Amino acid sequence: MDIRAYAKINLGLDITGKRENGYHELRMIMQQIDLYDVITIEAEPEVSGNDDIGTITLTCSEPSLPTDEGNIAYRAARLLFEEFRITDSIDINIEKNIPVAAGLAGGSADAAAVLVGINEYFGLGLSDEELMERGVRLGADIPFCIMGGLAYAGGIGDELVPLGAIEGLTVLLAAPDTAVSTKWAYDRYDELKEEEIIHPDIDNLRAAIEMEDFGCVPEFLGNVLEYATIPDNPDIARIKDVMMSNGAAGALMSGSGPSVYGLFVDADRAARVFDILAEEGIVPEDRIYLVGLVGGDWT
Ligand code: ATP
Repeated sequence: MDIRAYAKINLGLDITGKRENGYHELRMIMQQIDLYDVITIEAEPEVSGNDDIGTITLTCSEPSLPTDEGNIAYRAARLLFEEFRITDSIDINIEKNIPVAAGLAGGSADAAAVLVGINEYFGLGLSDEELMERGVRLGADIPFCIMGGLAYAGGIGDELVPLGAIEGLTVLLAAPDTAVSTKWAYDRYDELKEEEIIHPDIDNLRAAIEMEDFGCVPEFLGNVLEYATIPDNPDIARIKDVMMSNGAAGALMSGSGPSVYGLFVDADRAARVFDILAEEGIVPEDRIYLVGLVGGDWT
């Protein structure tokens, strides 16, 4: 069984507080994009006759990623194996296409795809909501990756409201070849003073989408984590400048960065800016992507 694990971008990301357990209160608009890892699941029937859970074997095309408990996709498989006492053994392969630690939720997408895939493969009968309840124990972005498409996210990112689909915009995504740790970015953000921050207008961004006023979406893009990540990663600002000065309707860092995307009304123009970015050499050409937006029903 092959499953696509789609990356996401944030059209909006605001931080409104911090809980006692350290989690941040968020208000986000998340959008899946047509850049995906491929998760392949194959099972071997159990032969030993004992009640132990089966062996989970993970392989990954990206050698820098762990293939044991350190991989969130492995932990997702084990969660369901333990709960449902699955005794068959399973091989999971991740063909990694989503840049790692880039603000694109690649790990969360892989974990979500494994939950969805194992549920289907072994006929566990869990609904999407039930999968989301399990996914959030592993990571706050996983429920969105299970639901897919476009959504408003409140709480710690797990209270989701689906938002239909945006039409008529092309995404040009550039992932600088540096990793940004999500924890580092949030820690940096916590050191900032409130008066230094202009919060994005998530309400109007959401309203523009709900009223299908897609031409207004670019002007309401905003991500407060830019304040945390850009000072140490000035290429993000340079890429935004290149995109905006060459016709993007809007440009923003995704998640905790360093990925940056531009939204273009004109797909040809987006393709030209792809070439300009590649020539500028700020981002390796194989880390620049022209991608579409993914609608809701992705499984
Ligand atoms: P987010 O946007 O959710 O904060 P991200 O896109 O910035 O996440 P990921 O690519 O999900 O970051 O990876 C974050 C870290 O998680 C990596 O440094 C990596 O070591 C670890 N990791 C564990 N499993 C995976 C996986 N399957 N894919 C990617 N990273 C993984």
